[in-house]
Amino acid sequence: MIDKAFRICSADGTEHKRIDLTAKKQYGGDRMMYHRQDLHEVLKEAATSSEGVGEPARIKVGCRVLSCDCEAGSVVLENGVVMEGFDLVVAADGIKSKIRGFVSEEEEKPIPTGHAAYRMMIEAKKVEDDVEIRRFLDPREAVTTMVMGHKNRLIMGPARNGEVFSIVAMVADGKKMTPQLGYRLMSTKRKRKRASQRQRGLRKET
Ligand SMILES: Cc1cc2nc3c(=O)[nH]c(=O)nc-3n(C[C@H](O)[C@H](O)[C@H](O)COP(=O)(O)OP(=O)(O)OC[C@H]3O[C@@H](n4cnc5c(N)ncnc54)[C@H](O)[C@@H]3O)c2cc1C
Repeated sequence: MIDKAFRICSADGTEHKRIDLTAKKQYGGDRMMYHRQDLHEVLKEAATSSEGVGEPARIKVGCRVLSCDCEAGSVVLENGVVMEGFDLVVAADGIKSKIRGFVSEEEEKPIPTGHAAYRMMIEAKKVEDDVEIRRFLDPREAVTTMVMGHKNRLIMGPARNGEVFSIVAMVADGKKMTPQLGYRLMSTKRKRKRASQRQRGLRKET
């Protein structure tokens, strides 16, 4: 589904802001709402399909990688097997990546944000049956809704043409946001403000 707008509501369901999404105009592609399983399936099909340029990908499951040698183009699996002869090794093993360290030779640890995220999918029908929720939200409408209360956020939207409704709950986890991350966010905000001022001719390039 194409995401049409981003809504911001307070905890009582009052809508305070509705931002129409203009990704297509700005970036040439729409912001899509996918069930993660479906996106995974589409990517898998595209990679393993015999149509298209080049050899189809072969997927090996149950192969935990322990280490990699970027120069030799080889990886060592947990079961002791060494796979070698690769021109390129792409490490996509997530935020707690083991392999990243072998590429950058530096230890990169995830930075705590001060929030834990809980995720759930519910049949849209069940949400529709809830009169309280229906007052401020249609679970089949192609929009993303964020409800804000104190430090917590609920970010919600439909997928599978409105068949399922996805909810992410961002809850303060009692730990402090890493100060380093705070500075990074501040400097990004400042950079965006400056870029916007430059675009509007309010600031000269420095
Ligand atoms: C609650 C939550 C909600 C989110 N919601 C959204 C959203 O709505 N939209 C969005 O765009 N993004 C969302 N994200 C972010 C998105 O999930 C991540 O950015 C994305 O999954 C990162 O993809 P990845 O392939 O880098 O890593 P991952 O998805 O973490 O995949 C890493 C894979 O590597 C495997 N692996 C790990 N170690 C090894 C190893 N040693 N050997 C072999 N395999 C290994 C893991 O089993 C896993 O399958 C959300 C994240 C969370 C936590």
